[in-house]
Amino acid sequence: MSHDVLVTGASVTGPALAWWLHRFGMNVTVVERSPAFRDGGQNIDVRGAGREVLRRMGLEQAVAKAGTGEQGIVFVDENNRVKAEFDKEVFGGNGPTAELEILRGDLARILYEHSRDRAEYVFGDSIESLDDGGEGGIEVTFKKGGARRFDLVIAAEGIGSSTRRLLFGDTAKRRPFNLYMGYFTLPKGENDGVFARWYNAPGGRSVLLRPDPKGTTRAVLTLQQAPCGYEDLSLDEQKQVLKERFADAGWETPRVLQGLAQADDFYFEMIGQMRLECWSKGRTALVGDAAYAPSPVSGMGTSLGLVGAYVLAGELSRHDDHAEAFAAYERIMRPYVDQAQDVPKLGPRIANPRTRFGIVLQQAVLNLATKPGIRNLAGKLIEPPAEKIDLPDYGRAVSR
Ligand SMILES: Cc1cc2nc3c(=O)[nH]c(=O)nc-3n(C[C@H](O)[C@H](O)[C@H](O)COP(=O)(O)OP(=O)(O)OC[C@H]3O[C@@H](n4cnc5c(N)ncnc54)[C@H](O)[C@@H]3O)c2cc1C
Repeated sequence: MSHDVLVTGASVTGPALAWWLHRFGMNVTVVERSPAFRDGGQNIDVRGAGREVLRRMGLEQAVAKAGTGEQGIVFVDENNRVKAEFDKEVFGGNGPTAELEILRGDLARILYEHSRDRAEYVFGDSIESLDDGGEGGIEVTFKKGGARRFDLVIAAEGIGSSTRRLLFGDTAKRRPFNLYMGYFTLPKGENDGVFARWYNAPGGRSVLLRPDPKGTTRAVLTLQQAPCGYEDLSLDEQKQVLKERFADAGWETPRVLQGLAQADDFYFEMIGQMRLECWSKGRTALVGDAAYAPSPVSGMGTSLGLVGAYVLAGELSRHDDHAEAFAAYERIMRPYVDQAQDVPKLGPRIANPRTRFGIVLQQAVLNLATKPGIRNLAGKLIEPPAEKIDLPDYGRAVSR
């Protein structure tokens, strides 16, 4: 078993990993690029096995308490008439609204608070270079903080991971989904309640409004569009793109665009997945979005990050040889990741129809999916594969 582990990234996966590594007897340092703990982010889902990992960390109740309170989702037309309604219980808590819905910043904060006494946290730094000396460990040079030697380095740096680039060069590319999404917070409107509301406009556009526990509303504007360089524009230019492309979208979009103009937490991304043939090299491994981001449309990124952290730490506790541990981590996680990346079954095109006819058809199918007799079949189409992993029990490794 290796003892000194550097984890990079302090969002969801990094702090969860730090907690489990410490639990299994390792010394952990977490280095986060941002100068301070990063709040922010919108509603994320914790599903199935991800929830079980939180339970094993003793955090399930804390996370449930901090949840957004979203009770389900309705699909509406331009007159705000409900065309299909999914209560969060409909698919056993594993449908469009997960049983555990929480703001990313709130979940990350809970995990950080839970692990900060168990690991040394360093903010405002990142890896400049790595020198893997094999048996002698790995020499890490930091951008600000000089050099240090570790037994292992694990990158939990999200989809844009620079350590992944150091390891694999530019061969690891995002697989784009022909979707762009803009996220921001706006004042609560009179129709905003405990249900999320999803509105489709022709041209592959959708507006999603979701409740949060802060008395505001979280908005997501989605645009079906092949990669065209929007991701390289400045924030103001990206806002302008959305303003122009959604100008005639109808429904409550004018107030949403007003909120967009004033939003100071606007975040815009080209949606895609990260697929790699291997998640480790020598003494360095990748975990969470850095290794296998499934995209926000899958609703599985956070669960994969939590489960990946648990399995990676557990396998490191089971094997004296880190290479065997990395191989076991990959063997256990790979099928689960493959399934998660196979979603959404309601693919981006179906979720954002281009024509009015497509929207009517989509709403009719969704409405059908709410009917009890059809629900099981619909569940197979809609549900992410949150339960489809047998979580190993690393209990014996703990007491070793
Ligand atoms: C600010 C923010 C907002 C988000 N908002 C949403 C959202 O609204 N909806 C959604 O579905 N998903 C969102 N996500 C992504 C979501 O958190 C992940 O899909 C999922 O939880 C898995 O998390 P992760 O910890 O693996 O990666 P991430 O959550 O992406 O975290 C990566 C962390 O690593 C840090 N980092 C990056 N590079 C380096 C480096 N070289 N060295 C050290 N640290 C580094 C980042 O600052 C970040 O804290 C957001 C992520 C972030 C960071």
